[in-house]
Amino acid sequence: MNSARTALADLQLQVIACERCPRLRAWCQQVARRKRAAFRDWEYWGKPIPSFGDPDARLLIVGLAPAAHGANRTGRIFTGDRSGDFLFRVLHHTGFASQPVSRSHDDGLRLHDVWIAAAVRCAPPKNKPLPEEFRNCRPYLVREIQLLTRLRVIVALGRLAFRACLDALRELGLERPPADFPFAHARLHRLGPDRPLLISSYHPSQQNTLTGRLTEPMFRRVFLLARRLMDAGSEAARAGSRS
Ligand code: SF4
Repeated sequence: MNSARTALADLQLQVIACERCPRLRAWCQQVARRKRAAFRDWEYWGKPIPSFGDPDARLLIVGLAPAAHGANRTGRIFTGDRSGDFLFRVLHHTGFASQPVSRSHDDGLRLHDVWIAAAVRCAPPKNKPLPEEFRNCRPYLVREIQLLTRLRVIVALGRLAFRACLDALRELGLERPPADFPFAHARLHRLGPDRPLLISSYHPSQQNTLTGRLTEPMFRRVFLLARRLMDAGSEAARAGSRS
């Protein structure tokens, strides 16, 4: 294992042991104890959720935070909830995932050329992390961006994850303000030479998918664009991009 891969693996162990946000840690443990009736036979994970995927990935997907009865139960990001069902169907369709379903951490799912992380790695009450919780968790995202040595494209799912990506990239030297990068679905943002390309996307939450605000063809478009940029090579991709 090369040193970046080792460091990436070590980072996931640090995430799992993290206690920086007392409110979130208490909430995740409470949900894990009480459970939802449909999952009463499950032993909930109840800890912070590590990232998941291919350490050699050229694509990084950043969600908002784990779901209380999804990843907080299964221990794997986007696994066991409706948002994950939608995401993995599309990742399978676009060649990034080995199967269209994601039910548990040992369901055999493999990701190809993609790494999935969250802006906040503990499930928050009402799906709403506090500003200090975003700040507390940001160093993990910053470090992952550094350790994904082949990274070319970041897809941010939802406005808050998009802002978290920009904040992380500013810590890595991006000088332009967030206002220079307006959020829109399937929008490509050019951050400058030697930086990954950033695509903003609606989040695949039921609030979006059940209302038709985000359809599968719209979501596929995001990952087909990411694939095209990844395959085109960074210089050609940047030359053809719009910000
Ligand atoms: S949200 Fe992030 S920083 Fe806060 S306790 Fe969980 S892993 Fe740690």
